[in-house]
Amino acid sequence: MKVLVYGAGQLAQMMNLAGAPLGISVNAVDVKTGKVVNPVDKSEQADSLKNAIDEANCLTVEFEHVPVDLLNEAHASGKLSPSFESIRVGADRVIEKKLLERLGIANCAHRVVTAIDQLPEVVEQLGDKLILKASLDGYDGYGQWRLSSREQLVELQQTLSALDLQKVPLVVEQMQTFERELSLLGARNANGDIVVYPLAENLHHQGQLHVSVAPASALTDELNKQALAIFTALADELNYVGLLAVEMFQVGDRLLVNELAPRVHNSGHWTQQGAVTSQFENHLRAIQNLPLGSTEATGISAMVNVIGCGGISKEILSVPNTHLHWYGKSVRKKRKMGHINVVAESYSELSARLSELNTHLPAEYFPKLPDEIQRLAALR
Ligand code: ATP
Ligand code: MG
Repeated sequence: MKVLVYGAGQLAQMMNLAGAPLGISVNAVDVKTGKVVNPVDKSEQADSLKNAIDEANCLTVEFEHVPVDLLNEAHASGKLSPSFESIRVGADRVIEKKLLERLGIANCAHRVVTAIDQLPEVVEQLGDKLILKASLDGYDGYGQWRLSSREQLVELQQTLSALDLQKVPLVVEQMQTFERELSLLGARNANGDIVVYPLAENLHHQGQLHVSVAPASALTDELNKQALAIFTALADELNYVGLLAVEMFQVGDRLLVNELAPRVHNSGHWTQQGAVTSQFENHLRAIQNLPLGSTEATGISAMVNVIGCGGISKEILSVPNTHLHWYGKSVRKKRKMGHINVVAESYSELSARLSELNTHLPAEYFPKLPDEIQRLAALR
């Protein structure tokens, strides 16, 4: 079996590593050059893109912002999973919000803005605590602006004046207060079988994911029920095939959907060591229409992102049940360089392991970790 992934970053790399034991060979397309590369060592393959498409059983994506001409070519092959339509839902916040509204899935109050002079009216409707998101090409908090008072409106309008909102509208959302951020990951194969992972709790810093803990603490039947209903509604409506991630806010005992990612997701990296079947393996199983693997958690896991830091002491490996996943990329500020998975039997044991881990890490790159260690210590 051969899978071709659009995008040659760490997600394609981890799909490749998960595919090998199943006899699935995974190559990647560098979407900037259109070249076919090995996603682990990035070596250029002899195959042209056209040949690689012909030879693959299945095409998939590691991110939703694949240039549309490449995506069209992939779609035309009839082998793309998830579908072109599902990928567009994740790529375009306007389409995404319409889908949520159509399915009656709770999400943040919002308006679509196609001209800068609509903003004062939106402030009247939604209030002056707003988050403005470019509908296309946003990730890791890029392409976002915030308004926290009416007084800032004129300045914000000036900042946004260079944008072509007819071409790329803004989705303006009410700033939501929430208890915590959760993510829901699941897989659906072409038979329509669905599996979902336990909800993960996500900690962000400056718009980027820093730490995930899974299963999240204090998950009630009510939350699990809502999560499954949301996943099933979305996956069935899209006739979705592959792994789908749903980012959510918990408000009281309700889940509000923030956004969808039609792919394997950073908040699911804990599944590599912390679940019976990793998200990468389940994605490959789903797109090849194989039986899906158990999503059961084998313990309590934390996934710690290594962001903007060029190297990590291998001493971290002395911490029990700790695993490093390094992406082999050149270092840049705010770039995801790797992640560390730690598994334990309880939240308090996880806290102790993270505390030990923290002694080997440069503090400036892990600003969320000390508080998280404390929080976990208090959980049972
Ligand atoms: P990523 O690629 O990391 O998922 P993104 O750029 O696609 O990020 P969002 O997920 O929409 O953008 O927003 C990033 C973060 O900003 C969210 O995880 C959340 O912490 C915060 N945020 C987004 N929308 C809202 C909102 N309406 N109210 C409050 N906080 C929000
Ligand atoms: Mg997000």
